[in-house]
Amino acid sequence: MSNLYFQCASFIYMTMVLILFFSKKRVANVETKIFSIISIINIIGITLDIIIVYLSYVVPFHFTLYILNKFYLLYILYWGALFTLYIAYISIGENKKISQLLKYVVIIICFIATIFIFALPIELINDLVIMYTDGPSVWTLYVAGALFVLIIALLIFFNIKKIISKKYAPVFVLLILSFLTFIARSINPAILLTTSIITVINVLMYHTIENPDLKLINELNIAKMQAEKANQAKSEFLSSMSHEIRTPLNAIVGFSQALLEENLPETAIDEVKDIIAASENLLEIVNGILDISKIEANKLEIINKEYEVSKVLNELISLTKAKIGDKPLDFRISIEDNIPPVLYGDYVRLKQIVLNLLTNAVKYTKEGYIEFKVNYIIKNDVCRLIFSVEDTGIGIKKEKMDKLFTKFERFEVEKESTIEGTGLGLAITKKLVDLMNGKIVVQSTYGKGSKFTVAIDQKIVTNPTIVVEAKEEEKLQRKISFAGKRILIVDDNVINLKVTVRLLKDYQLEIEQVTSGQECIDLINSGKKYDLILLDDMMPKMSGVETLKKLKKIQDFSIPVIAFTANAITGMKEKYMSEGFDDYLSKPIQKEELNIVLHNYLTDIDEEKEKK
Ligand code: ADP
Repeated sequence: MSNLYFQCASFIYMTMVLILFFSKKRVANVETKIFSIISIINIIGITLDIIIVYLSYVVPFHFTLYILNKFYLLYILYWGALFTLYIAYISIGENKKISQLLKYVVIIICFIATIFIFALPIELINDLVIMYTDGPSVWTLYVAGALFVLIIALLIFFNIKKIISKKYAPVFVLLILSFLTFIARSINPAILLTTSIITVINVLMYHTIENPDLKLINELNIAKMQAEKANQAKSEFLSSMSHEIRTPLNAIVGFSQALLEENLPETAIDEVKDIIAASENLLEIVNGILDISKIEANKLEIINKEYEVSKVLNELISLTKAKIGDKPLDFRISIEDNIPPVLYGDYVRLKQIVLNLLTNAVKYTKEGYIEFKVNYIIKNDVCRLIFSVEDTGIGIKKEKMDKLFTKFERFEVEKESTIEGTGLGLAITKKLVDLMNGKIVVQSTYGKGSKFTVAIDQKIVTNPTIVVEAKEEEKLQRKISFAGKRILIVDDNVINLKVTVRLLKDYQLEIEQVTSGQECIDLINSGKKYDLILLDDMMPKMSGVETLKKLKKIQDFSIPVIAFTANAITGMKEKYMSEGFDDYLSKPIQKEELNIVLHNYLTDIDEEKEKK
């Protein structure tokens, strides 16, 4: 029964291959399909072989053995047919007419051979060492086999260039092994290795054609590339959409702000304020959509820097106070003493997170109070900042709590239709908190109020490199005159130029304006001197960034240049600064920011000292 060792080994090995094959994800193509069927046929064949060898020892020449041997011949026939189809597929593909024709030829061969194998007699030869078969039934298989070999040979001949592909390896190994078996059998006919050879070929096929991992990785890579491309297109679209929306908004906000300074009747002032509020709301929506799409594309970076905690808190408080306006709300502030003055982290995002919570508290509270608490815990060189925002507002229903951080989810909006919002704020807040490895928790009683608590770790800076500025607030408020100072505005959009000039009117500056980068360069080259340049970026022909690069090449050029752009997605400031701009002003222009920039770049140092 020594032959059984081969069969058993084949059976175990093939079973393992099949388990591996079927447990993995597969690519749905003809190759995989043929391989699945051919492998199952092989397992059936090996099982048959084992039974036949066993029975030939127990009940030699029994009727069952004749039948089983005929089935065994069929197994080899069908395996050969599928193998031929596989070679046809890898050589000419599945869609050509010739492959369809070959399919029918193979089916007809199989059909005729099946009838002959069953109809013709089979001889069982028992040479006392092993039993093997012969006779017309077996010769039918030889003829069918020869036809398959002929088809395969023709396929290879007409696709000779492809044979270096590793997919053809099973064919050549089959040829070599068959030849060796033929020689071995002519020496000793008792050597029967057909099942084992077929198994070897099957396993080889698994490794050559059927490498699900490689194929899937390949498919995944292609899908990933397509997704990245689509994502990039989306980001570009959003970025230009933001720019397009901001440009007219700049005019609306700018002129409205300018109008407020005129002697308008009381009712007109209210209306202008409404225009500004609505524009700011629109701006918030644009920013929200951009932020969420950036977060989803994993493009939102956390930019850590040293920052002054008190400055961030003051900004948060003054922005919240402005939002409360004349709502009957008590704004309670409780900030724990001795928070480390300078921390290292992304203060822009930190501000965004807390401001979202404060804004929501203001939005969803009609009366009562809003309590803003800041506490901290220090562990080694890390300061855990704990912000909590509590309100006596409308509260959130228990069943809505788990949807709170889902984008575009808004509750009670039908009741509170006057409250503006997109349902993006908390989704962004949560994602930002996650990105900063923080935690956010909500407690809320419907109808009574809510409390949002955020904890974020920030590094403590013991030797700050930043200059601690105490006068920012003052700069925001102070109206300054810059008589005698010269400023150049470069913007391709004429309305934007008009807005900027209008907003700069009160500063008594000498203003010059041009509509392209080239004109700006020409002016500087002609020797004109300015104290400050406001340079738009997205301009036709020459962008602001390109203009700046050319300006910097001009000898002795030392005028501060501010990126003045509607390209205002978060992170842009850092981008423009790294391009070499001295500062950044986003459109629509915020008067306070304009004040700060003008103050920073146009106040003479002597003047500054005098004021002290
Ligand atoms: P938006 O405020 O733009 O609608 P958010 O994502 O900030 O979007 O909030 C989602 C929803 O959660 C809001 O629509 C509101 O129903 C609810 N919500 C958020 N904050 C509060 C709060 N402080 N009090 C009551 N409800 C709130």
